[in-house]
Amino acid sequence: MSERSPTRTGDQALVREINLSLIMNHLRDHAPVSRAALAEMTGLNKSTVSSIIRELIEGRFVYEIGLSSSSIGRPSTLLELNPSAGHIIGLEIDVDSISVTCANFAAEMICQQKELTGSDLNQAAVLARALAMVEEAARLGQRKQLNRLLGLALGVPGLVDHETGMLLFAPNLGWENVPLGDILRRRFPNTPIFVDNEANLAALGECFYGAARGYDTVLYISAGIGLGGAIVSQGHLFKGKLGYASEFGHMTLEVDGEPCNCGNRGCWETLVSQPALFRQIRRAVERGEKSVLSDWVAQDWSRLTLPMVLDAAQRSDTVARAALERVGFYLGIGIASLVNALNPDLVVLGGMLSLAGDFLLPVVEAELHRRALRWTAEAVRLVLARHGADACLMGGIAVVHQSILSQSVAAR
Ligand SMILES: [Zn+2]
Repeated sequence: MSERSPTRTGDQALVREINLSLIMNHLRDHAPVSRAALAEMTGLNKSTVSSIIRELIEGRFVYEIGLSSSSIGRPSTLLELNPSAGHIIGLEIDVDSISVTCANFAAEMICQQKELTGSDLNQAAVLARALAMVEEAARLGQRKQLNRLLGLALGVPGLVDHETGMLLFAPNLGWENVPLGDILRRRFPNTPIFVDNEANLAALGECFYGAARGYDTVLYISAGIGLGGAIVSQGHLFKGKLGYASEFGHMTLEVDGEPCNCGNRGCWETLVSQPALFRQIRRAVERGEKSVLSDWVAQDWSRLTLPMVLDAAQRSDTVARAALERVGFYLGIGIASLVNALNPDLVVLGGMLSLAGDFLLPVVEAELHRRALRWTAEAVRLVLARHGADACLMGGIAVVHQSILSQSVAAR
């Protein structure tokens, strides 16, 4: 970097990163495609496109696949992402499961595996199982001739120091100060490692490969065992000073509400989460309201599952419907405030509760329009995540993709 004009050099690097990401997005969507067509689609000039493509070809990230057979003008060389440039592994350790996926460089899945982790598994056992699953996925990647492991990204439901990959606090896992980055680096010493909050990764997954493609300012809300979220503006996560931004689930919505695993009371996630939904149902039945769910679980509420609640709601079970409506109501109240604060053009609802989208979305939409300022409410669309439970893994692949490419091109 030049000592005389660091800002200018920094700007140039940023412009290059933006151009690179534009070209990659169009290659992913429109390949096989020529350099001229890429220039036209991205609005970049031809020499910029040619220079970036040259570097991508040298890094084996893109290859030429032959000539176009267009009848108009000279045939041009067509380009494609090179799926064999290497493999990328996404890992998610959630409250009740571990998931791992291995993708090629064109972000196509080679394998995916999910295992449930009961409360009897302690932290060491969960980590040992997660590492074994990653090793298995890496072996499969190697076997498919994708020899380079380009990176490994881990998503966890908690606060992560993004410099070191230290998990500081995951209230719903009950984990504190776990050096996840170091643990992964020790096992995979020559692999770039990324550790982040699962909602951050899921938001990126939706922005790169899912429902939020092409939007400018995206608010992602992930509702499951807990409630997480993320803000992505122009393809970049808003992380805050230390990387702990977007802990929306711990905004206080009820001053003297239910206790939360974070130690506070009345947090948004005590009203909008799977445990909140189940608690509503159980209490309604305990008050004497009739529900098919009490027969289905045979009075053992630990057997209750989200598909059971949805099944009951589809059969017009009033207890299941009222509980879903209450969750949707509070989800809408929180989202309306966030829409006022952030003015996004898209809100994506992900996580396990997005399975209840048919019941939740109309209620959320109504509250959003009742409570947000007309101008911010009119500017925003509300959609369900496309990748549902896989969004975090897809985001892991997006993070590795972007990082490998920007380093590779910036180093030249
Ligand atoms: Zn809380």
